[in-house]
Amino acid sequence: MELPPDISLKMTQPGLGTRFWIFPQPPFILGYEQPDRVLLPILPDEIADGPSDVSMYVADPLYDKEPYGFRDLPPFRGPRRRSVRPGPDGNFDSLDPRSRDYLGVHAYACIHFVLEAWRNYVARPMHWFFSDFYPRLEIVPFVRWDNAQAGFGFLELGYSDAGGQQWPYALNFDTIAHEIGHLITLSQTGVPGSLSRDADFFPFSEAISDSISLISFLHFDSAIDRLLRRTKGNLLLYNELNRFAETSPETQIRLATNFRRMSEVTSEVHDRSLPFLGAIFDTIVELYHRELVASGCADRRLLSVNLRDLAQDEFDWFRQSTAAACRDRPLFFKLALTKARDSVGAAIGAALHRLDPDTMRLGDAALAIISAADLQTAAQLEENFVWREIIGSR
Ligand SMILES: [Zn+2]
Repeated sequence: MELPPDISLKMTQPGLGTRFWIFPQPPFILGYEQPDRVLLPILPDEIADGPSDVSMYVADPLYDKEPYGFRDLPPFRGPRRRSVRPGPDGNFDSLDPRSRDYLGVHAYACIHFVLEAWRNYVARPMHWFFSDFYPRLEIVPFVRWDNAQAGFGFLELGYSDAGGQQWPYALNFDTIAHEIGHLITLSQTGVPGSLSRDADFFPFSEAISDSISLISFLHFDSAIDRLLRRTKGNLLLYNELNRFAETSPETQIRLATNFRRMSEVTSEVHDRSLPFLGAIFDTIVELYHRELVASGCADRRLLSVNLRDLAQDEFDWFRQSTAAACRDRPLFFKLALTKARDSVGAAIGAALHRLDPDTMRLGDAALAIISAADLQTAAQLEENFVWREIIGSR
């Protein structure tokens, strides 16, 4: 018997997009060693060698470049490694995703993936905040630096240390999505000019970039599948969702599942961003529970227990009942999670342009997101922002 050829490997029909490999989590994370093949909605004839296109390009220095600073900005004018070319069919999935050459291609693909997801939520034009000076974002896929940064005209990626080995941030979707999150935010709020002393723009921006990273990760079908299978539908377990910051390039590890309130954090930017991020994460989980209850996949009791203070027997009961339902009706769990993801993503995306970066407080941002949300999402967000002491009860 002759098997038909793998249809996913056939040449992409013109007009559909271009294929790439993306690791939804860095390949050193157990269960994520293999990349996903994704079809990005940019056509092969719109991508030049590099890769590069009208909105971004990869510049991969031949030597160890210093990170950009105040005096030193793009474009990179030094000698570069040779531009990466697609395969003969115009796609990039014939390249080895673990090769040195692929680092820039991976970063490029991740950026397009995140922008594509957020284009839906923002629903307004997104321009680089530096587009008056630089029409295109420069992607520097590897600098010898244990950090990553997005700035005026560039995204540059160093490496993290994991298990005694150096891992390029160019293979870390979360890091890239977080940095692009800063650029998406600035595309809507504009750049702060003269920040008032009380302004909360920086902690807000960290919380939103983490939320953008988290929500973008949930756009990989394979990631949702793995997450739900591994947790058996119980998102209160420690899992990929809150591990996204584990190799964070920033000094403070940020956790989306935290129980911090504003009265418990310091004024340090990342610390101060935690309650806001926690409120966003809790809202996604609670909306997910509501959907599960609505589709008959979870007991109504789930909506009345206090999730932050579950007794062990309540937790065990929840775990067993969702595990059974998740085994029998996994599709409804997936639908519940994508709906919760999109409700919160749409509220954030629609609120960003309403904020004044110079004067905004975290409470203003919370109210803008609540007022941009649908009714059920708004109620859940409000409850969580109140509990986090970001807004008062109304
Ligand atoms: Zn950041």
